[in-house]
Amino acid sequence: MSDNRLSPVLDPHALAKELSGKLLIDGALVPAASGKAFPIHNPATGERIGEAAEGDAADVDKAVQSATKAQKAWAKVAPRERGKLIGDCARLLQDHIEELARLIALESGKAIRTESRVEAGVFADVFQFYSGLGSEIKGETVPFKPGMLTLTQREPIGVVGAIIPWNVPLLLMALKVAPALVAGNTIVVKSAEETPFTVLRAAQIMNQILPPGIFNLISGDGPTCGAPLVSHKDVRKVTFTGSVETGKIIARTAAEKLIPVTLELGGKSPMIVMGDADLDKAVDGAVVGMRFTRQGQSCTAASRIFVQDAIHDEFVKRLKGKVDAMTMGDPLDEATDIGCIISQQQFDKVRSYIKIGEQSAGVTTLRCSAMPSDGKLSRGLFVQPVIFTGVSNDNRVAREEIFGPVTCIIRFTDYEEAIQQANDTEYGLSATIWTKDLKLAMDATQRLEAGVVQVNQNLVVQANMSYGGIKSSGLGKEASLESMLEHFTQKKTIIINLG
Ligand code: ADP
Repeated sequence: MSDNRLSPVLDPHALAKELSGKLLIDGALVPAASGKAFPIHNPATGERIGEAAEGDAADVDKAVQSATKAQKAWAKVAPRERGKLIGDCARLLQDHIEELARLIALESGKAIRTESRVEAGVFADVFQFYSGLGSEIKGETVPFKPGMLTLTQREPIGVVGAIIPWNVPLLLMALKVAPALVAGNTIVVKSAEETPFTVLRAAQIMNQILPPGIFNLISGDGPTCGAPLVSHKDVRKVTFTGSVETGKIIARTAAEKLIPVTLELGGKSPMIVMGDADLDKAVDGAVVGMRFTRQGQSCTAASRIFVQDAIHDEFVKRLKGKVDAMTMGDPLDEATDIGCIISQQQFDKVRSYIKIGEQSAGVTTLRCSAMPSDGKLSRGLFVQPVIFTGVSNDNRVAREEIFGPVTCIIRFTDYEEAIQQANDTEYGLSATIWTKDLKLAMDATQRLEAGVVQVNQNLVVQANMSYGGIKSSGLGKEASLESMLEHFTQKKTIIINLG
C-alpha cells in the first residue's frame, strides 16, 4: 500500500466539514450538479455540523454511467482477485475504525462505546468476510443427455442501486456493497438524508483501492435522488433497507423494469419469556434485543415482550432496574450507554406513540434511566426509555413499529396463546423464545413466523448467516454466501453438444 493514503481524522467535526457538499462519483469527491446542499445537525445538541450535497437525477445519471463503464472491466477481474481487493479495503478500514466511530456518533447520536465503535468494527469485518468468497461463486453441472454437457454459471447482474437508512448506515451499506462487488457488480449507494458523512468517508477510503466507478456514493432525498436511482434504465438490481411504505414504492418501480429487488423492511419482533426461563439471561436479552443502547432504533427491536404470569412482576422489576442503571448522555462521551433520537421527525413520532400508550386503559408507563443533565445537550433529541406493562397485543403501540426506546410487556398464561399473539402481526423479521424446556423451544422455532428465530439469546446480524424478513418485513436475504449468490448474481445455463 502506498504512503499517500488518507490518514485517520479523529476530529469528527473537521471531517464533517471536509466532506460537506460532496458526492463520490467515478472515484472523485464532487459537488452535486445543481450545486445545492442541505444542512446536517448533531441530534444531541442541535448544532449544524455541515451540509450534505443534494444529489438529484443528474447526479444519479452521472454515477450510474460511471458504474456502467467500470462494470465491464470489473466483471473480467478474476473473482478471487476482486475478493483480494475487498480484503485490502477491509484492512484499510480497520485503521479507520475510531475515525468512523466518532463521525457516526456525531451525525447519528448513537453512543460511541455501546454502538458506534461496534458498528464501525463490524463494518470492516463484513468486507473481510466477503473477501474470501470470490471463488465460491460456483455453478453446477446438470445431467441432461449423453453427448450433451450442461452447466450453469453465475454471472454479475450489472449495476446495483442501493438505498440505505440512517439507523445502522455503515453495517447496512456493507451488507450490500461487499457481496455486490465481490460478485462482479458495480454499485451506486444513496445514503439516508440524516447520515451522509460516515458512509461517504468509508466510500472515500475504499476508493483509494478500488478502480474508479466501482463504488459510487450519492446523497439526497428519497423522491428526488433515491427514486431516479431505482428507475434509472441502467440499474439492473435494487437493494433497499428502510420503511415498508418506501419498500413498496421501490418494488413497484422495480416491477415496471422487471428487475430483482431485495427489501429489508420493518419489524415488531416478539420475545417470549416462559416461566422457567433463566431470568437474568432473559432480562439481559431484553435489554440487548430491544436495542436500548440504540434508542430502540432497530428493525429487529424486541418491542413486544410476552412474559408468562409466574415471572411477570419480577421480570419487569429487573428490566426496569437494568435500564435505569444505563446512562443517557453525549454520544461522544465514553461513559454514555444511550444516545439520542436521530431527527425531530422521529422524536415527535416516538413521543406521539408514548402518548398513545399512556392514554390506553390498563397500561402502566415505566420511564427509565434519567435525562442528561449537561446543559449543552438541552436541545438534544433525548427520550427516556419507556416500558409499557399491561399492554394488549392489539394496542397500536404493540402493532405499529415505533422505532424508538419503547417496549411493550404483554402478560400471558398459556404458551399457545403466546405463540398465537406473537404471530399476530404483519411483520416477520426476528423472534426469540426463552425457556429451559428444549422440546418447547424446538416447537417455537418451528412455529414462530420470522426470518430469524433464536432460543435463549438475542444476537445481532452475523456476516455468515442469512438475515431478512418474511411477511411485511421484506423480500430476500442479506449477509451469508447464499445471499450473495441468490441476490447479486444471475444464472446462465450453457448446453454444449459434444457429438
Ligand atoms: P425512514 O422512515 O427510516 O427514514 P425511509 O424508507 O423513508 O425510512 O428511508 C430509507 C431510505 O429510503 C432513505 O435513504 C430515503 O432517502 C430513501 N427513500 C425515501 N423515499 C424514497 C423513494 N420514493 N424512492 C427511493 N428512495 C427513497
